[in-house]
Parts: sequence; structure tokens; C-alpha cells
Amino acid sequence: MSSHILVVEDEAKLAQFIELELKYEGYEVTVANDGFTGLTTAREIQPDLIILDWMLPGLSGLELCRRLRTTGDKVPVILLTAKDDVSERVAGLDAGADDYVLKPFSVEELLARVRAHLRRTQEQNPDLLMFEDLTLNRSSREVYRNNRGIELTAKEFDLLEYLMTHPRQVLTRDRILETVWGYDFLGDSNIIEVYIRYLRLKLESENETRIIQTVRGVGYVLRD
Ligand code: CA
Repeated sequence: MSSHILVVEDEAKLAQFIELELKYEGYEVTVANDGFTGLTTAREIQPDLIILDWMLPGLSGLELCRRLRTTGDKVPVILLTAKDDVSERVAGLDAGADDYVLKPFSVEELLARVRAHLRRTQEQNPDLLMFEDLTLNRSSREVYRNNRGIELTAKEFDLLEYLMTHPRQVLTRDRILETVWGYDFLGDSNIIEVYIRYLRLKLESENETRIIQTVRGVGYVLRD
């Protein structure tokens, strides 16, 4: 459930470099080495974002982008270009690209743009909650850490959802109890500890870092 990124780049070494960096960040990556393959792949896999080289054999990046937009595809597109010329940049934006990165680029810059555009998509989809490498889909009730699907019980899901809607905020045990279990809950309030323990076991089963932290005497917080 991590974001799927399509890289369309004909320079094999550069494509591989971008692919490795993106995979290292936890993205799913597909590479196409020419424009036509890029276009068919984009239609086939419906990526969450496309990194698109301008100068491509077959179909240029600009033309690929234009064709995607004419069919109503709104996937964010970041153009890679060596053309440091205002009129060329305008042409890229006119063709429907959302952003461009000038070659040669630093990988940090490219990754920052990728994150920014994916965040924007996420803000348009309120069903999708993301925190670090954790993704929770409120409508399908699916949870993923990196690419690993995590099976949760209904209550575990509700508890995690509540934490994820308030990232980096300390939630008191009373608030958690009221929100997740309801005002009329008459059971043992230690139930929260029990469920937090279950959640941590599932979220950290592959030695991932702890993201649900205990604030002693107060409650819990979702924090790296
Ligand atoms: Ca090229």
C-alpha cells in the first residue's frame, strides 16, 4: 500500500539510481525506458506519481504528459529536464506537468518533491491516513507498514485510527477510552495497555521502530 511510482527515463543508469533511491524510501517502483512504454505502463498500473524524463525515445515526456491529461488522468507528474529555459518550463507546465526538476539534480531534492506531491494527493483523499511508513485506509480498513499488510481486529483498528488522526499529540488514557471504547465503557481501563501491546506486536513484528510511545502517567502518542 506504499505509493507506487513510475519512473520513465531512458538513461539506464540514472533510471536504476532513481529506482534504488525510491525503493530505499519504501516506495514501490516501476521503470519504463521509453515514452510509449511509459504511457502504456502508466495506464496499466495507475501509479500514484510519475517521474518523467523530458527527452525520451519514441514519445517525448512532454507528449506523454499531454496524452495522459487528455484522457483525464490527474496523476502528479514531475518532469526531469536539462532545459534551463523559462519558455521550455512553461511548455512543460502547459502540457500538464505538476513540477520539474533540473538535471543534474540532487536526490534529496527529487525525494522532497516526490513527498510534497504525494502529500498533496493524500490531503485530497481524507480516507487515507499516513504516518511515517504506516498507512491506514479508513474506507477499506486496511493497514500497511511499508509494504507489509497488517491484520487488525476492529478495536485495534479503531485505536490505531484514533492515534493516526492525532499524530504527535499526547492522548490521555481518558480520551482514548472515551473515543475508542465509548463513554459508557464500564470495564477495566487497563484494556488500553492490553490493546497498545497488541498493536505494537503487530506493528513491530519485523523489528520496525516503535511509533506508539508511552507517555508515563498520561497516555500515548504516535511519534517516531
Ligand atoms: Ca533522456
